[in-house]
Amino acid sequence: MRLIEKECPNCGAELHFTKEDTSCKCEYCKREFEIERDTDKKRVVDQYILSELKTPFKIFSFFTVGNFFVQAVIIIVTFLIIVILGYNIIKGLNDSNSIFNRNANLITNISDLSNSDYSTLDLNSKILISNETSGITGSYTNKGSFKREKLYIISNEKTNYLIPIYKTTYEYFSNGSDKHTLYIPIVFKNVRKRNNSIAFYLDNGKISAPEYHFNEDNYSYGYTDFDTLYNEIIKKYEKDYKIIEK
Ligand SMILES: [Zn+2]
Repeated sequence: MRLIEKECPNCGAELHFTKEDTSCKCEYCKREFEIERDTDKKRVVDQYILSELKTPFKIFSFFTVGNFFVQAVIIIVTFLIIVILGYNIIKGLNDSNSIFNRNANLITNISDLSNSDYSTLDLNSKILISNETSGITGSYTNKGSFKREKLYIISNEKTNYLIPIYKTTYEYFSNGSDKHTLYIPIVFKNVRKRNNSIAFYLDNGKISAPEYHFNEDNYSYGYTDFDTLYNEIIKKYEKDYKIIEK
């Protein structure tokens, strides 16, 4: 079968195709062409009209321009832009200084909190405490005593900690006089308020306390006295943070 030779309309390289072909691709510039035949023309080569094939992915054809180095740079730069944008969008959800989250404010004062914020705080704390202690305390159960004794708002310009401290009582299941009262501190970091709610920023709370052993087998988290808790949890912030106690 005789090959027809014609110049690539894009780069001038030689293109080869047969009479039967309806399209062809340039080996050099990788462009694809549709082949039309005009039988009025006398020269065989002139009878074939090549027009660039329109494919749905034509937008990517610019990658065929330039050498490997240029293509690599375009891909790396595009990748970096995506990574930087993605990082900033995710960071923006947590960072009040981000351009993506201008409306979120770090809570630094008691007056920043509303009654519904306190309920959110208590509810999340209660869930955390029961997740951490249930099953671990074995025969000891929390008899419903769960009260926020104090709340600390500890902050500087960039970071804050909301530390509510709960007083809970655990009793041995068959012996009400075997009772243990514990102070349990929950540490919520970088609590922000947005659209008048702190609800979306409370998912990283941690119980910050030693394990307190009721006896050799059963234990829960907490401090038996408040002063030890203050010295171990709150005092370490005194140097670098503003501490508000309520
Ligand atoms: Zn070409």
